[in-house]
Amino acid sequence: MPDQPVIYSASLLMPVSGPAIHDGAILVREGRIESVGAISDLERDNPAAEVRHFPRHTIIPGAVNAHAHLGFRHGDAPEGGSFSNWLAGLIVRLPEKEAWTAEAARTSAREAIEAGTTFMAESSPYGECLPQLAESGMAGTVYAEFFPGDYEGASPEEISNSIVQKVSELRKGLPERVDCQISVHSPYTVDPESSRLAARRARDLGWGLAVHVSESPEEVEFVRDGTGGLTDIFGSNGWGGTGLSPVRYAESIELLAPGTIAAHLATAVSEEDIEVLARTGAAAAHCPRSNEFLNCGVSPVPLMMERGVRVGMGTDGLWSSPSMNLFEETLFAVKLHGFDGATGLELATLGGAGALGIGNETGSLENGKWADLAVVDVLPASGDPAREALEAAAGGGVAATVAGGRLIYNRADS
Ligand SMILES: [Zn+2]
Repeated sequence: MPDQPVIYSASLLMPVSGPAIHDGAILVREGRIESVGAISDLERDNPAAEVRHFPRHTIIPGAVNAHAHLGFRHGDAPEGGSFSNWLAGLIVRLPEKEAWTAEAARTSAREAIEAGTTFMAESSPYGECLPQLAESGMAGTVYAEFFPGDYEGASPEEISNSIVQKVSELRKGLPERVDCQISVHSPYTVDPESSRLAARRARDLGWGLAVHVSESPEEVEFVRDGTGGLTDIFGSNGWGGTGLSPVRYAESIELLAPGTIAAHLATAVSEEDIEVLARTGAAAAHCPRSNEFLNCGVSPVPLMMERGVRVGMGTDGLWSSPSMNLFEETLFAVKLHGFDGATGLELATLGGAGALGIGNETGSLENGKWADLAVVDVLPASGDPAREALEAAAGGGVAATVAGGRLIYNRADS
């Protein structure tokens, strides 16, 4: 039996792709938006629909988190200071972390949902957080990271075959709208040939690719000169010191393409690097709070957007970021770059969807898209209603979250 249609309505509806609608509503059938308009019109035309009305609220699209890690928890992050210090602290704690990764992933996912997130691009070693994303109710892609150091004596061909095989297995039996693809973790953890082969295989299979690129001063030094704090951690692994910027290096090993989401791009990203991103079609995930915590600089996001690079927002994980609230991350970016509210709200939603190549499926409230939305406890009164909605969502004001037409969080019930 087909699902009964549902009308979600509120005092204000901000579709992001079009003008705000006072006393606005969407009609949802089979998880997708069938129409958008005034409450009175939708109720009149669909008398059989169940109505879920939020009288003192604003409905916005659900947050699209373009770069996150679920498997970390609050309160015991390694010391920051410098990126290589932090990473060394993280690596030391990997064995004890194993015991609580699943629980941390559940909690992180819950926190994201309670902050209005409906789609998450998650990266975790060998896709270890896929079960928790799949059971969370959010839609999303888990990008399985692989580390050639784990494959003693194997060739790059064997390593890339192995991760493709692993991801192919993980893709079986997933819920609708949950997917698994590959991440080439970073220029300093994955050798160039394994990176290149894994990226090629991913493209051949029609999969996306997630990478960390130009995140830290240490990474820039490693790729360019083959020296610095990351060399101390990973030893002289033989492929640093290319003389290139991390973006140019990533291009040279074929990581940059339209299906690639490149996280951070925080340190020393030049105009030439931005040209490379624009030309190759790679998209960016902006994680400004993590970048600040690890002293990694500020990503030149306004210039990237001006040059046509697709940009979304990412929270990163709880060991480098204070929360999984993507709207809070975005408000931080709005203040950092001096964006207006509409630009911020778009970055958090449709921008992220576009960066991940799913802009036709989610990110705005439009006919035919999945009904992915957040109900926010705010009635904007100023000249910048998008900013007010963003501030409310950033500050714990999400009253309900709907993904694929399903109410996955309702504060009233909890
Ligand atoms: Zn990351």
